Amino acid sequence: MSKITNSHIAIPTLLKVEAGALDKIGSYLKDNEFKNVVIYFGNGLIDMFGYKVLDSLKAADVEVLEYCELDTVDIDDIIKLAFNLPNSTQAVIGLGGGKVIDAAKYIGFLKKLPFISVPTSSSSDGFSSASASLIINGRRNSVPARMAYGIIVDTQVIKSAPQKFLYSGVGDMVSKITALYDWQFEEVHGAAQVNDFALMIAKKAVNSFVRTPFESINDDLFLKELLDSLAMSGIANEIAGSSAPTSGSEHLISHALDKMLEVPQLHGIQVGIATYLMSLVQNHRYQRVNTIFTKTGFWDYVSTLSLDVNDYIKAVDLAPSIKPFRHTYLHEEKYRTLAKKLLVEDETLKKVFNI
Ligand SMILES: [Zn+2]
Repeated sequence: MSKITNSHIAIPTLLKVEAGALDKIGSYLKDNEFKNVVIYFGNGLIDMFGYKVLDSLKAADVEVLEYCELDTVDIDDIIKLAFNLPNSTQAVIGLGGGKVIDAAKYIGFLKKLPFISVPTSSSSDGFSSASASLIINGRRNSVPARMAYGIIVDTQVIKSAPQKFLYSGVGDMVSKITALYDWQFEEVHGAAQVNDFALMIAKKAVNSFVRTPFESINDDLFLKELLDSLAMSGIANEIAGSSAPTSGSEHLISHALDKMLEVPQLHGIQVGIATYLMSLVQNHRYQRVNTIFTKTGFWDYVSTLSLDVNDYIKAVDLAPSIKPFRHTYLHEEKYRTLAKKLLVEDETLKKVFNI
């Protein structure tokens, strides 16, 4: 592997995480000299946020050339949309959950236009990642795209989304603990080279988050910490030139579940459970992981989902084949064996799976 890693990195120029940010979207875009934009809303979101956003843009003299709701991440649909964009489009805005963010991100990437990411839930770090999860030939795949030019998050909106999205965001954020440990493990085995700065950034992001005092997960400070930390870890990927800083063995388990199950759980829910499991396997910071999942109510929530431990056992076996070129803990048989044993023997996990 080359010793030279990507040193020219893209960082969002615009980053606003605050209560009421949606009302100011017009002035944010005007300040960045965007005059003609296209907006894609998630399913059902024009009714919820459309008028607020369109009014704000109108008040700032930003013209909306086109807007519509989008409910597809099929690459063929997205390519068609991209090449039908009005010629004078200066920026593509995606407002909603993971799907519309991924679709709009990829449209911006294809047309080399700035993409403005406006997540309405905190379910994963997709809003600040440079890749998009799209359907290609009927199967979900992660494809390279580009970092958002702007990230605008209204914490009031995040708060009004169902709680499960918050838990999913918590799970995805805490996963950096095991992902980073896997990355270092990989380097020891000669299968990767850790970028020191990316490692530091992602560590700071997760540590700042898990050390934030809070009364309730709906506290403004807690939400801001969560969203800022998710955004920050996206930059770690950009520096590393790969997703290794934010995605290790715990993500492989979740990807395996996505492949296996008819109806998988939210990304960060699966990732969170797998993070706790892998922190035990790695014998690294599992108390910290357990504490944050207990205090946030993540464990209480997941124990209501009737999850089947056998799915997780199968996912552990499938995990290394998802990314055969990596060398996480789960790429070694002895750790897979340990993971499967812990799934049925650890007291906390027994409660999660109701066994
Ligand atoms: Zn993730």
